[in-house]
Amino acid sequence: MTPWGTVAGLLGVLCAAGCAPTVGPGASGSFDLAPGDPDAVHVVYLGTGGWIFERGADQVLAAPLFSNPGFFTTGLAPIRSDTLEVDRFMGLYDVSRARVILVGHAHYDHLMDVPRVALRHAPSARIAGSRTVQNTLGDWSGVADRVDLLEASAGDEQTVGKWMPYGDAVRIMPLRSKHAPHFDGMTLYEGTRDVPVEHEPRWATEWLEGETHAFLVDFLDGDGSVAYRIYYQDAVAPAPAGFAPDAVILEHPVDLAIFVPATFDQVEWHPEAFVQNLRPRRVLLGHWENFFVPVDTPATSIVLTDFAHFESRLERVFSGEWWRPDRWTEFRFPTH
Ligand SMILES: [Zn+2]
Repeated sequence: MTPWGTVAGLLGVLCAAGCAPTVGPGASGSFDLAPGDPDAVHVVYLGTGGWIFERGADQVLAAPLFSNPGFFTTGLAPIRSDTLEVDRFMGLYDVSRARVILVGHAHYDHLMDVPRVALRHAPSARIAGSRTVQNTLGDWSGVADRVDLLEASAGDEQTVGKWMPYGDAVRIMPLRSKHAPHFDGMTLYEGTRDVPVEHEPRWATEWLEGETHAFLVDFLDGDGSVAYRIYYQDAVAPAPAGFAPDAVILEHPVDLAIFVPATFDQVEWHPEAFVQNLRPRRVLLGHWENFFVPVDTPATSIVLTDFAHFESRLERVFSGEWWRPDRWTEFRFPTH
């Protein structure tokens, strides 16, 4: 890493705090691609890594962030979950039926608000996360005993992982992944937690990444067949990290792939390699907006990433429908 590269990267991160325009073909409001279909899958973007996936009575939550500490606060001061903000925004949706909360890695923007969401809003949900996720939630959060560890079930390009069932109609397969660098080859907050943390982490630097996973999420029909398959990643991954096993995709391709565009240029062939691996029918982009500003601020993109470049590369290899949704955008997709 050159000194100039570091400075440019830091300036880029600084810029992310406020000077980026919104770019690309964004989507707002609601998109009903399955009018009148009671089996449709309902998808809501909550911002950052947060999503609701829902079919009938079954809900899956991907860990949201609503606290959004400011850029300088995150770098220079203690941060903690803003439970009022979590309640205000998570309370917009009824996620009380959520069976599981997906946590792909343990950085603060994916884990810090999970205890409040799990305790107050999704009280019966398990938390699907790594050993580091469980140990970071440690003795202080009251939810560490709800973590289902992913490592022993995780699959990869070559290995079919173990499906983890959540009721009769939902199952997930974790996929061994990696976290791309944030800028100039540098990944922030690397490391693992090997023993339970006694106190709530105070600094962003204490939310160590741990083991990173992507997920396949299946909604199942009554006969056990796959009605709808979602691929979810909460960090850009250097392929083939984050790939799904070919054998599983051959059985049922991905109906909806959720990709992270921010920092895609830190790795090779993102998103092309994932389009080839997953053969998705539709694509949504998440974790694309500046999360150093309050949730109710109009979304602007993270400036470190050339989104137009990402989107043109996506379109070169993917001819299906895709969207980069604003927070709260809702979709209904047909299952058959
Ligand atoms: Zn991260």
